[in-house]
Amino acid sequence: GAYTRRADRVVASVCPFCGVGCAVAIHVKDGRIDRVEGAPGPANDGRLCVKGRFGMDYVHHPQRLTTPLIRRADAPKDPAILTRGPDGRADHAKLLAQFRPATWDEALDTAAAGLARMRDAARAQGLRGRAVPVAGFGSAKGSNEEAYLFQKLIRSAFRTHNVDHCTRLCHASSVAALMEGIGSGAVSNPVRDVAHADFIFVIGANPVQNHPVAATWIKNAVRRGARLVLADPRRTELARHAWRTLTFTPGADVALLNAMLHVIVSEGLVDEAFVAERVHPGDLAALRAHLQAFAPEAMAPLCGIDAATIREVARAYATSPASMIFWGMGVAQHSHGTDNARALIALALLTGQIGRPGTGLHPLRGQNNVQGASDAGLIPMVLPDYHRVGVPEHRAAAEAAWGLPAGFLPDEPGLTVVEILDAAYEGRIRAMLIQGENPAMSDPDAAHAREALARLEHLTVIDIFLTETAALADVVLPATAWPEKTGTVTNTDRTVQLGRPAVAPPGDARADAWILEQLARRLGLAWNYGIDPHGGGAEPGSGIGRVFDEMRGLMPALAGLSWERLLRVGAITHPVPTADDPGHPIVFTDRFPTADGRAHLVSARLSAPAEPPDADYPFVLITGRQLEHWHTGAMTRRSAVLDAIEPVPHVSLHPQTLARLGVAAGGCVVLRSRRGQITVATRADEAVPPDVAFMPFAYAEAAANLLTIPALDPIAKIAEVKYCAVAIEAVPAM
Ligand code: SF4
Repeated sequence: GAYTRRADRVVASVCPFCGVGCAVAIHVKDGRIDRVEGAPGPANDGRLCVKGRFGMDYVHHPQRLTTPLIRRADAPKDPAILTRGPDGRADHAKLLAQFRPATWDEALDTAAAGLARMRDAARAQGLRGRAVPVAGFGSAKGSNEEAYLFQKLIRSAFRTHNVDHCTRLCHASSVAALMEGIGSGAVSNPVRDVAHADFIFVIGANPVQNHPVAATWIKNAVRRGARLVLADPRRTELARHAWRTLTFTPGADVALLNAMLHVIVSEGLVDEAFVAERVHPGDLAALRAHLQAFAPEAMAPLCGIDAATIREVARAYATSPASMIFWGMGVAQHSHGTDNARALIALALLTGQIGRPGTGLHPLRGQNNVQGASDAGLIPMVLPDYHRVGVPEHRAAAEAAWGLPAGFLPDEPGLTVVEILDAAYEGRIRAMLIQGENPAMSDPDAAHAREALARLEHLTVIDIFLTETAALADVVLPATAWPEKTGTVTNTDRTVQLGRPAVAPPGDARADAWILEQLARRLGLAWNYGIDPHGGGAEPGSGIGRVFDEMRGLMPALAGLSWERLLRVGAITHPVPTADDPGHPIVFTDRFPTADGRAHLVSARLSAPAEPPDADYPFVLITGRQLEHWHTGAMTRRSAVLDAIEPVPHVSLHPQTLARLGVAAGGCVVLRSRRGQITVATRADEAVPPDVAFMPFAYAEAAANLLTIPALDPIAKIAEVKYCAVAIEAVPAM
C-alpha cells in the first residue's frame, strides 16, 4: 500500500504548522508528497503529531491558486459574499467567479500600480510614517527571508513602518513584557530542556492540542518525576498528568499570579542573592509594596482558587531545584496580556528560576515562524533583530544596507494589525499588501475587519488559496506552499532550520520571495537578488542565500550564521554572534541583554476584562485552536485526513449548560455577541466551566471572530480574543 512503497526522493524539511518546529522527512512519489515521517531534529527527535504526519496534503488540494487573478470590473467587493449558512462549506466557485485570470506581468503591474498610486499621493502631500495610507501584513507562515523582504519592501517603498503580522494577535503582549523586563522577547530555554525541570508550570496553554510534540516532552518529564501544575480556565487534557490543576476564573490571571508572588515575598522565598546580582536595585521594594494587596485569601474569591492551594503551588515553584514556566494564548490574548506576562517574569526573577537548565520562561510560539518573522523585523516598532525604529543608529544601519538616502526611514513606529484595519475602515489606510495572512478570519470583530478590507481602494493578496481575505482583493498572486521552496524558519526554541523544496509549485504559482522582488522593482527599488521563481536554489550565491546573508548583516543574533554554514549544519539555535559560536539553547545564564545586564521587576496591575458578562450576554466566550485545525483553517481544512476527523464547527459547553439551555449534545445553538451572531453545533465538554463557551476559530461557515471584541492591551495592542460576553440560545429542532 501507500505506506510501504518506496519514494522517488526523501527531502529534509520542517513541519509547516506549529512553532515546535518538528523536523520532517517528506517522501515524494511521482512529483507528489506521498507521506511524511518524523526526522531526528533538535525539537522533535523523530516525533510528529497528527498535523505534521497527515496534514501536508493541503499542498495538492485542487483549490490551490495556479494563476494570477484580477477582480472583474462587474464584481464589486462585498463582505456579504463571505457569509455562509450553518451547513455551508466554503463556496469556492462563488468566490473565484469575482476574478479573471491574468498573466504575471499584468497582475504584477496592476498590483504595483494600485500600491504606487497611494504612495505617490502620500509623497505629493509630504506624508511619511503612520500617515502614509499604505500598510502591509506579512506572514508568520512564510520563511525568514520572505518576512525580511516583506518588511523591507513596505519600509523602503512607502516610507512607513505600517507593517505587522499575526504576532500582534499572538504573543505581542508577552514580547512587550519580556523586552521591558529582561531585554529580549525570545524564550530562555528550549522545550526539551523540560527534561531537567523538577517543577513545570503551564498556564493559559493547551499544548496537547496546539503544541503536541512539546506536550510529549512535558509528559515525559512528569513520568520522570517532575511536578506539573496546569493553570487554565479549562480543565484540558494535560490535567491528567498534573500534580495540581488550577481551573481559575477566566480573565483572573493577574489575581492568581500576584497572589503567588505575594506568597513568595511574604514567606521569605525570594532568592535574595539572585535578585541582588541580577535585578535592578529598588525594583524588589516597589514590587513588595504593590503585592501587599494581593494576599491569597483576598484573591481567592476573584480567581476561584482557594488560598491554601495558591500557597502550596507558589511554595513548590519557588523551592524546587529547577522550575520552568510555559505559557500560551490564554495569557497573551487579553487586554491585560502584558500584565499577565509581567507577573510570570516576576515569578522567575524573584526566585532565581531562570538562566539554568530546567528553568526559565517559555512563551509557546504558535505559528511555525512567528519567532523568525518577528526576528526579521515584521513588526511596526522594530527593524530586524528588534532594533527600535526610534534609535537613529538603527535606522541609519538599515538605510545603508537597503540603499536608501540617509534620514529616509521615519522615527515613529507604524500602526499595528487592529489599528491598521481600523484605519482602513475610516479611510486613513487606502491600500494594502497582504501575504499569507487571513485577517478576515483571524481578526477580532470579523465583520468590521471584512468591511475594512472591502473599503480599501487597493488590496493585493499573495497566498496559496483564495482565502476569505483574498476574496476581498483586487489582485491575487498565487504563491508557494512551504514544501515547495527553499527557506529558513525559526521555531519557538529560537532554532533556525532550513527547509528545502520537495515538490514543484502547481500551475503558474511562484515563490513568494520572487513575487516580492518583482513588486519591489515595479515600485522603483533596485532589488536584484536573482530569486528563483519556482522556489528552488539553495546553493551558496543563490537568491535566497543572498537575502539571508543580507538579513544577518543587520542582525547581531545571526551574525555568525552564514548561508554557507547553515547549509552545512541544517539547524542552529540563535544567538550565533560569531562564525565559531555553536549557538545557545539556554540564554541569560549570567546577564540579561539590557543596558546594564540587569532585569526589571514590573508590577502587574489588576484590571477587569473589557466586556464582562451581564444579564443580556451571560456567558464568557473563549476562542482558541484544536488539534486537527490550524488557525483560520486555510490549510488544515483542505487536508483530507484532518478535515475528515473534524469536519464541522462546534462550540464546547459544559453538560450542565446544555441541560440549562435544553439542548442535546450535537444540537445547534445561536451564539450572539454585541458584534455578531453565528449558528453552530454543540459539543458536551466537562473541561469547560458552566458559564463559559469554548470555540475554535478555524471555521469560515461559523467564524468565531464575528463575535470577539477588538479591545486592545494598551501596551502591546493585542486583542482580547480570549474573553467576550455572549448570549446562547437553543435553535429549535427542525
Ligand atoms: Fe508540526 Fe507542531 Fe505537530 Fe510538530 S507538534 S508535527 S511542528 S504541528
